[in-house]
Amino acid sequence: MVVVDKEYSPGKPVLVVKLPGTNPELPAVLLNSHVDVVPVEQDKWCVDAFSGHITEDGKIYGRGSQDMKCVCIQHLEAVRRIKDSGTKLKRNVYLSFVPDEEIDTGLGMGLLSQSQEFKAWNIAVAIDEGLASVDGNMMIYYGERHCFWLDVTFSGNPGHGSRFIEDTAVEKMRKLVNKALDYRENQRKRLQTDACMTLGEVTTVNVTMIHGGTACNVVPSEFTVTLDCRVSHEYAFEEFKNHLKLWVDEAGGGDIKYVATSDNDALSSIDPKDKWWSAITGACKKHSITLVPEIFPAGTDSRYLRAQGIPAYGFSPINNTPILLHDHNEWLGVDTFMRGIDILGDVIKDVANVSG
Ligand SMILES: [Zn+2]
Repeated sequence: MVVVDKEYSPGKPVLVVKLPGTNPELPAVLLNSHVDVVPVEQDKWCVDAFSGHITEDGKIYGRGSQDMKCVCIQHLEAVRRIKDSGTKLKRNVYLSFVPDEEIDTGLGMGLLSQSQEFKAWNIAVAIDEGLASVDGNMMIYYGERHCFWLDVTFSGNPGHGSRFIEDTAVEKMRKLVNKALDYRENQRKRLQTDACMTLGEVTTVNVTMIHGGTACNVVPSEFTVTLDCRVSHEYAFEEFKNHLKLWVDEAGGGDIKYVATSDNDALSSIDPKDKWWSAITGACKKHSITLVPEIFPAGTDSRYLRAQGIPAYGFSPINNTPILLHDHNEWLGVDTFMRGIDILGDVIKDVANVSG
């Protein structure tokens, strides 16, 4: 049953479908998928990136085959099978299909999660996207790193490009870039030397854009550098913000403009006694799948849900597969895809039948 088919923001369609439960007074289960994908460089692909081409050796090629048309279809197919079999689940199950996850405008799940409809559904737990695993285990994500995107603009003395101008904007910017890259190198070494550590447990800082200058022979009075920081839970949100301010001050002072920040403090429980966690892990055990819980290294729509106190688990049932999201020639094995429907079917049933 379709319960939402509308645009919370013009041109941004959201679709929500409901499978009614036998005990609708119990808080509900949400299965979320984003329907947008990142662009492709078609000339780098071996097939039409939007053809869903299946090779003779059983690989589905296409943009979104891992991120996340696959899970989107699996949610729908798993629920269709449950419905067709006549099986009744205790809790209401909602399937949401939202735009804009990849471009992070907040106009997809951001708006849906704040809507009156959403509040009325009384969502207790959510399942969203994860990542592929290269070995036989499957990954599940119970939190995300804090995210900071910022522009830092430095001002300095301008002048002729032939001279030794003192105290230029670009010198200040270089100091900040050096600090950021030195820090990045330390974190990279930490990750590489500790086999137990995962990307979600260290902090990454990357210089992603540099803007400035008006002519080849003019030392500019302003330079702007953009940083993408994904911050581990070792730091409190404000603590890392202060850290960045200190770097900028030590570089000579500049104007910081935050393009986007998200304080992803909330972690969903992976306590074996937690009812949702034990339902998910128990369902996967039926398929001899060991789940490896991690902090997601980037951002997903789960953060909007966790921010409202809703436990959210990022789970794409993909194993023994290279991680190809956003890459050229993204593919998923047909067998893995089909098995994923069975696995998610059991996860959905067991989670929606949690009592009390
Ligand atoms: Zn995704």
